[in-house]
Amino acid sequence: MTIDYQLIIEELKPIKIIQEAEKIKQLSLDYYYFSPILEKQLGEKKADLVVIPNTEEDVLKVAQICVKYKIPLTVRGAGTGNYGQCIPLNGGIVLDMSEMKKIKWIKSGVACVEAGIKISVLEKETKKHGWELRMIPSTYKIATLGGFFGGGSGGIGSINYGQLKDRGNLYRVKVITLEDEPKIIELKGDETRQINHAYGTNGIITELEIPLAPSYNWLDVIVTFPDFIKALKFGQELADSDGIVKKLVSIQAKSIVKYFSSLKPYFEKEQDCALLSVDENSLFSLQELVKQYDGEIIYQQNLSNINHVNLIEFTWNHTTFHARNIDPTITYLQTFFFTIEKVEQMYKYFGDEVMMHIEFLRVAGKAIPAGLQLVKFSTEERLNEIIKYHEDNGAFIANPHTYILEDGGRKSIEPEQLNFKKKVDPYGLMNQGKMRSWK
Ligand SMILES: Cc1cc2nc3c(=O)[nH]c(=O)nc-3n(C[C@H](O)[C@H](O)[C@H](O)COP(=O)(O)OP(=O)(O)OC[C@H]3O[C@@H](n4cnc5c(N)ncnc54)[C@H](O)[C@@H]3O)c2cc1C
Repeated sequence: MTIDYQLIIEELKPIKIIQEAEKIKQLSLDYYYFSPILEKQLGEKKADLVVIPNTEEDVLKVAQICVKYKIPLTVRGAGTGNYGQCIPLNGGIVLDMSEMKKIKWIKSGVACVEAGIKISVLEKETKKHGWELRMIPSTYKIATLGGFFGGGSGGIGSINYGQLKDRGNLYRVKVITLEDEPKIIELKGDETRQINHAYGTNGIITELEIPLAPSYNWLDVIVTFPDFIKALKFGQELADSDGIVKKLVSIQAKSIVKYFSSLKPYFEKEQDCALLSVDENSLFSLQELVKQYDGEIIYQQNLSNINHVNLIEFTWNHTTFHARNIDPTITYLQTFFFTIEKVEQMYKYFGDEVMMHIEFLRVAGKAIPAGLQLVKFSTEERLNEIIKYHEDNGAFIANPHTYILEDGGRKSIEPEQLNFKKKVDPYGLMNQGKMRSWK
């Protein structure tokens, strides 16, 4: 059935609609191009219309019209996803949630907000009450909270609270369905797993209630080490040091330091290093640990100092971002190593072809190393060989070179997500082509 978009525009009025081709193109894409594989597959995809709702009623109306005319619908937060999660494969409507940004309330340890709020805006407010988010992505300045839960996994703070999908990290959501009669439903506790990291394939999240963490005076610290293995072991011990309050333990091989242009003044030479965020009262204990591993603190800055460089924006996938700014042929992997011995094995095997970047995070109560290694891309075959070698040797790759939900981090669809989709999106209109099991 061909869709008459002029008619749709009339029916959608007075909701804000974008029709300019250039703007539609821009709002149809994300950071898919970090992957040379996705770059080839997705660069030409675009929506027919972008719709920007202001209220839940607007979203309900868009849902009703999409169901009535069977229009594909792709939800967008800020479009900072890395795997083409918010790129529409079959045109249709992109629903840009960025105007749904109200803070409903913040009270001791909990915040309730609309899904399109920028994470940085929310955190600025929670800090006024002595709280901060349990975890944030390195894109926190622009990413939305709905997009983080829809497409992200964790980040700064995951060393304490694990990943977004872990029980207790999301209290409640409101979701709008694409049934014959679209409606607003609420999911609580474990039920929220149905929409977590589901790429917006099974419902439009309009509101979230999230737990918060106590806010600290964070100190950004860079420590250099004589070699990578010392830096790695230091990272594990710091991650395991329950008495040292921290929210970021990022270990970078010296081959990566050349990509950190604005950090260069602090480095005498390229050295293996740790980028950290620790509570300022933990500094003395940190210094003792640094000494134990022959490290040297080359930078420390309180975040309230206006001259500080924001170290967060050199970690997680921002490391890839900086490397690609200098060398656009660089791509990346996402790897759960589970032990530092496994990291060491891969570090020695691949050398500089796979530059080691480790983030420590908590998985089932244990601090483990996960990698966002930089890869000098040559061919797709070689990239697949590198992935296979990791997998054959017991490292788990959450493949960032696919837009298919099942082929990325989870390897299979959660049955609860598929069942939920059957209920809330019976016509399969939401983010078509991303959930293979739907077919
Ligand atoms: C440089 C860089 C660094 C990054 N660092 C991190 C990191 O530290 N940790 C991390 O987890 N990720 C990271 N990412 C990925 C991404 O930035 C985050 O996951 C971010 O939180 C996504 O938010 P967004 O608002 O941009 O979502 P989008 O990219 O717009 O959307 C992500 C997915 O969620 C869906 N979605 C968006 N809003 C809704 C909604 N209201 N209802 C239902 N579905 C919705 C979309 O359809 C899409 O599938 C990084 C990306 C880049 C480019």
